Amino acid sequence: MTEVATRFAPSPTGRLHLGHAWSALLAHDFAARAHGHFLLRIEDIDPTRSRPDHVDGIIEDLLWLGLQWEGEIVFQSQRTALYRMALEDLKRRGLVYPCFCTRSDIAREIAASASAPHGPDGPLYPGTCRHLAPDMAARRAEGEAHCWRLDTARAMAAAGPVDWVDGAGARHPARADIHGDVVLARKDSPTSYHLSVTVDDAEQAISHVVRGRDLLEATHVHRLLQALLGLPSPVYVHHDLLGTADGARLAKRNGAPAIADLRAAGVDPRHLVADLRAGIFPGGYRPLAL
Ligand code: GLU
Repeated sequence: MTEVATRFAPSPTGRLHLGHAWSALLAHDFAARAHGHFLLRIEDIDPTRSRPDHVDGIIEDLLWLGLQWEGEIVFQSQRTALYRMALEDLKRRGLVYPCFCTRSDIAREIAASASAPHGPDGPLYPGTCRHLAPDMAARRAEGEAHCWRLDTARAMAAAGPVDWVDGAGARHPARADIHGDVVLARKDSPTSYHLSVTVDDAEQAISHVVRGRDLLEATHVHRLLQALLGLPSPVYVHHDLLGTADGARLAKRNGAPAIADLRAAGVDPRHLVADLRAGIFPGGYRPLAL
């Protein structure tokens, strides 16, 4: 039997709030129950929003909560060679293409189309650069800023039908097409969330991805990428998100308490963690079934 390994994978773009703490606790306890491994991965690939002081804050908050991870912390910013290799593989197979569109190009194109298809995160990329002749696109890519997008239809055809498995053992067909041609390498970063998370979950031998339900739809893309790159597929356990008493998702902008604030207010972390484990949430917060 494969050993259980879970991870907490925050992006260091702010302080952890109660919702993050709950997610980290669920991933931690999932591994602990199975005498497995709980790993910490810092997803610091966004050069404009990631900050070292937030990394320090995350570490401090997790230690205060008593959520000890195993081994070295993995920093995505130090692993770009791995992501480049995966991208090169997809390039060689003609499954990605360079995209030169700016945000406003895309917005204009969408506004001009009679029925722009929508995915879970809004209107889909209209596919403008998918139609460029490959030699001309390659020439432009030498001097012009571009990202790399997955040619999702072609990629799905290459992979054939694939399923991902949830925590209850149910199989779900990987419908990556609901996202359109997602970005796998950004203009300002040699990777994207989808590519790096897929490569790292495999590389860190994660057996169970325990994360919020807000990322459920992203699983379709991750499963497709695993199939294309010949990577194993973990089990996906998507937990409910914490929300306010009136049903809004917990976020910093609606006053979600930062762990650092709870600490400053003299909260005892052992009590807080025991309460969270017992399903008792401070401040009237509660899990929301999305
Ligand atoms: N870094 C992502 C976030 O902070 C989480 C990634 C994941 O769990 O797959 O939202």
